[in-house]
Amino acid sequence: MKFQYLDQLDLRDKRVLVRLDLNVPLRDGHIADDARVRAAIPTLKKILEQTNKVVVMSHLGRPKGIDLKYSLEPVGALLTELLDKEVLFVSDYVKQPVEQLLNKLDKNQIILLENLRFHPGEKENDITFSQKIAKGMEFFVNDAFGAVHRSDASIVGVAECFQPEKRAIGPLITKELKALTLLRHSHKAPFTVIMGGAKVSDKIGTILSLLKECNNLLIGGAMAYTFLHFKGVPVGASRVEKDKLDLVAAIYRTAEARKVDIILPSDHVYANEFSATASVKFSSSAEIPVGGIGVDIGPQTIRLYTDIILGSRTVFWNGPMGVFEWTTAQKGTTAVAEATARCTGYTVVGGGDSLAALNKAGVSNKIGHVSTGGGAALEFIEGLTLPGLKAISIS
Ligand code: AMP
Repeated sequence: MKFQYLDQLDLRDKRVLVRLDLNVPLRDGHIADDARVRAAIPTLKKILEQTNKVVVMSHLGRPKGIDLKYSLEPVGALLTELLDKEVLFVSDYVKQPVEQLLNKLDKNQIILLENLRFHPGEKENDITFSQKIAKGMEFFVNDAFGAVHRSDASIVGVAECFQPEKRAIGPLITKELKALTLLRHSHKAPFTVIMGGAKVSDKIGTILSLLKECNNLLIGGAMAYTFLHFKGVPVGASRVEKDKLDLVAAIYRTAEARKVDIILPSDHVYANEFSATASVKFSSSAEIPVGGIGVDIGPQTIRLYTDIILGSRTVFWNGPMGVFEWTTAQKGTTAVAEATARCTGYTVVGGGDSLAALNKAGVSNKIGHVSTGGGAALEFIEGLTLPGLKAISIS
């Protein structure tokens, strides 16, 4: 796939529609983490150097229809502050396309559309909805990497409303593609992949694909117990996906054929109930006693994983090593974050919890590439064709 880049467009005084990922976490109607909005500012500034006729759009959360809890209005207020421009917030752009408003726009104003997911047409990739959004716009820039694996109207249908020479990817997508392509095709050995998080089933495609490239696969998080169970190790009442053992078998077959070492936790932190306030105990072997629920990797595993990561020349990490949300089960994830930051090879980290762990440890700036698109990054690494990239590509 070939792309046109934002830098290549002549946008002087043109009407530009921009799809950003402004999907911020909200708490009590306030933005809990503004990283995504801040990350989008350079893209907007680049466009605003050439034109002030800018319409910004994004989704936020997973509302079912109109639900003001998920309004982008607080994001508009933050954009005003960060850009020093008045952000005209448009709630109704379906009955009245923004075209007319755009013509009256003052030099110091830009337009932000209300949450795209308030309209069923967004998830349905409805052509009429796409056309309404694109109406009167001359160029389209997509810089929402976190959404390019979705076949939504603002990602696919809207891109198709523009001629190839009138559409481009923005700098955030460009950076992601460069980093993830390097990871997939130009990595140096030893290449270590660390996978954690809730389910094997969510990451099976990515794991199978990375097994063709990597030398070590370190497993943590809840998925480790499904692997241990498969190996016949008792894991008490830990979360095991019993219906996914065939996937684990496929992973072992591929790993054996490719001579990849799969390394599982050799000790654990466990609790007798699945609760943030439950007291935790240690198991110094790979086994967890009857009734125990594994919630984090233990100290011996932390040491081993740290050594392997430090000895690697390429590292990819996705997913927490334990129930990272609990203070009692954070050590494994924090240790992997710190080891990845100390690794002198090329390091790529993706997934919300892994990013939060990097930030908490204050080491995000020591990572080669911090990927903001969890699901999109995994699908790209898996080698899938992402609908949003296909739609905006120029050949
Ligand atoms: P994912 O989105 O697949 O990366 O999964 C992240 C989630 O996995 C987080 O909410 C963690 O709390 C959860 N998780 C990690 N380790 C465990 C575990 N041992 N048991 C249950 N959930 C876990």
